[in-house]
Amino acid sequence: MRLSRFDHLAMSTLLLLALALAGKGWLDTHPGSNPWAPLNLNDPPGWATARKIAALRQDPGECRAVLTRSAVAFAALEPAGEGSCARPDRTMLTAFPLRPERPPTTCAVAAGLTLWLNGTVEPAARELLGVGVARIEHLGAYSCRRLYGRGSGPWSEHASGNAIDIAAFVLADGRRVSLLKDWQGEDAKAVFLHRVRDGACGAFGTVLSPDYNAAHRDHLHLDQAARGFSGACR
Ligand SMILES: [Zn+2]
Repeated sequence: MRLSRFDHLAMSTLLLLALALAGKGWLDTHPGSNPWAPLNLNDPPGWATARKIAALRQDPGECRAVLTRSAVAFAALEPAGEGSCARPDRTMLTAFPLRPERPPTTCAVAAGLTLWLNGTVEPAARELLGVGVARIEHLGAYSCRRLYGRGSGPWSEHASGNAIDIAAFVLADGRRVSLLKDWQGEDAKAVFLHRVRDGACGAFGTVLSPDYNAAHRDHLHLDQAARGFSGACR
């Protein structure tokens, strides 16, 4: 049987239609890789997630809408501070397992922490250490200071509450995994810490770990500086 030109056209159109439908079906079930899907921090991260998180850094209103859409418990606090340490955007995650207390941060940091816990920290703990994470210990978020506490030079992202330093994870069975004690080596705790460092790179603009320098030997520095799409991650 010979196909007419019309038959060829009809078959090609049907094939394209089938491919488009299959693609749409895949995107519907992988919202993290769908650039058009509204960001939900409970969805597994995909290749479009980091770009959507980056867009929240300059838009606290949209960021809070994302927290609400993701059913994240948070409080929008009054602005505080002035000059280089002004904090117009103070957002507190009211149910996040941060210790010793839950510090206010920018909304973008709050969104990054939520995505990181759901998409990386909790799954990595269950897979590599057999239980979930009960608490995340931090060393502080807001601190009105310049980089490395110097007397001059650029201000730290901590000065606007746009950063947080993470020191350790306490597992549901009471085990503690700390950057200071467990980063080196190849056991499950070290693999977990490297996995969560790498995962943070998709949720934050800048991630600095013990690999970066000695000043970070005991914590992961996570910040949401608007340095464009790809910040430092090491
Ligand atoms: Zn820091």
